[in-house]
Amino acid sequence: MNPELRALYQEMILDHGRRPRHFGAPEHYTHKMEAFNPLCGDRLTLYATVQDGAVKDVHFEGKGCAISVASASMMCEEVEGKSCCDAEDLFQRFHKLVTGQDSAAAVGRLEILAGVKDFPARVKCATLAWHTLDHMLKGDAGETVSTE
Ligand code: ZN
Repeated sequence: MNPELRALYQEMILDHGRRPRHFGAPEHYTHKMEAFNPLCGDRLTLYATVQDGAVKDVHFEGKGCAISVASASMMCEEVEGKSCCDAEDLFQRFHKLVTGQDSAAAVGRLEILAGVKDFPARVKCATLAWHTLDHMLKGDAGETVSTE
């Protein structure tokens, strides 16, 4: 990746980390799940309204490193309005991208997080919100998601 693009991506990640979108508990939701990444100390709670097989609304709150917060913020932006199938597909592609299994995975603007593949400890930060959404959509209710 060229240095200018890398700098731009870093700036976008920091921006989402500082001013996360879809942040805060919504008044109404159908699903709630907590998640923890003990490796880094990232904690988040994901709230979603899932209706007619689609993610109608998704929010999160919590504390974590810039990568975990930015990734959760961008995930919420990307999956809101998507069908559960499309959201799952996107998670699979994103997971392949950040774990280095498929560097050409089509993930749209989530590509700005691709750099974490060179930092294995950071992959868990970047995928924490996604694993939580995955568990949520698969109906594993009531458990705290841990990356361990
Ligand atoms: Zn982290």
